[in-house]
Amino acid sequence: MVESVAVFEHGSAYDVAIKQFDEAAALLGLSDDMASYLKTCKRELSVNFPVRMDDGSIRMFTGYRVQHNLARGPAKGGIRYHPMVTLDEVKALAMWMTWKCAVTSIPYGGAKGGVAFDPRPFSEKELERLTRRYATEISILIGPESDIPAPDVNTNPQVMAWIMDTYSMHMGYSVPGVVTGKPVGIGGSLGRLDATGRGCMIVAAREMAREGRTLEGATVSVQGIGNVGYYAAKLLEERGCRIFAVTDSSGGCFLGGHVDLQKVKEWKDQGMRLIDFPGAEHVSNEDLLAMPCDILVLAALEGQVTEANASNVGARIIVEGANGPVTPEADRALERMGVQVVPDILANAGGVVTSYFEWIQGRQQLFWERQEVESRLEQIMSRAYDQVVDTAQARGVTLRKAALVLAISRVVEAIELRGFYP
Ligand code: GLU
Repeated sequence: MVESVAVFEHGSAYDVAIKQFDEAAALLGLSDDMASYLKTCKRELSVNFPVRMDDGSIRMFTGYRVQHNLARGPAKGGIRYHPMVTLDEVKALAMWMTWKCAVTSIPYGGAKGGVAFDPRPFSEKELERLTRRYATEISILIGPESDIPAPDVNTNPQVMAWIMDTYSMHMGYSVPGVVTGKPVGIGGSLGRLDATGRGCMIVAAREMAREGRTLEGATVSVQGIGNVGYYAAKLLEERGCRIFAVTDSSGGCFLGGHVDLQKVKEWKDQGMRLIDFPGAEHVSNEDLLAMPCDILVLAALEGQVTEANASNVGARIIVEGANGPVTPEADRALERMGVQVVPDILANAGGVVTSYFEWIQGRQQLFWERQEVESRLEQIMSRAYDQVVDTAQARGVTLRKAALVLAISRVVEAIELRGFYP
């Protein structure tokens, strides 16, 4: 049931988030006081809890829920299950959620959660028990008005259903609004599953258009064929792109535009590794990054394109489906090379934007047709993209710096409007 993603090299996501923030804060001329406020996470919860395994043994787990900043609204952000989860990583991811919600102008602050373990060997029942216990441990923070989790790496609609049920059992009534990314049958939104990939496709199309090209005939490589990577690839292919190569944590395969993505998905859904995909030519992660193509979708984890490998990147456009896949040092090298990076807080915002739609639909008890979800998503992603490009051009900076400048200035505006309590 869980999707695996690539784990290659893992830098400190928090250092990256702070470096990015400092650069944008300098461009904005932010005061030191405001900068130190915004670099600080408001709440950081660490929990250690036991779970009974199928063999009767008890194992201890560590999880986190961090809220970075709530000036623009309730905390919003996913929950990931991954062995590399640390408090530092969750803090960085929470901070990126604050900027992501601000750059798309949706009324949320940023949060993130995670449990440090590898879910792959776990049975469905073990995952359910772990999820319910973790949900209970973080129930002092989460709630439909306070902090709303969603899927992230290795979590999915079923995990959200367990969290929603656990929270509802404690309250004594159903609280669908406590999570987004739920199954449609219990208040999820149509179009949420593919929303992050759809957002990647929308910004890729606009970035190509800026260069006077369409997606028709464009070549695409995808690092990490999990939920985000798969739907980005599928939707890009539907618009005429050729999917050259895809990878998972086992490495990857060269598809050359001829292998059925659906078959790749079925293979992955059976828990198989891409390296064993029948008839595929193997490529390493480094080969994938170096492969000449129009669009490289990075949909695995943080710290994938670094100072060490940035100069080999063969793509003209990078779309960050993952959070934090390119380090600040790599950003500088890519800028020199003329590679455009559509940054995470913009490129992968389709997921949280559609989470917002799910939350609104739940509050109104009025559910939209898929068409409405998709067209509203297109509208918000396009508006955010255009505002980022305008800011980049006006300031003569990269799309990442422009997106951060825009986002940070919106959070600062909210803080100043609200004033300081007491
Ligand atoms: N985990 C996703 C992200 O990183 C979605 C978060 C959400 O929908 O709240 O943006």
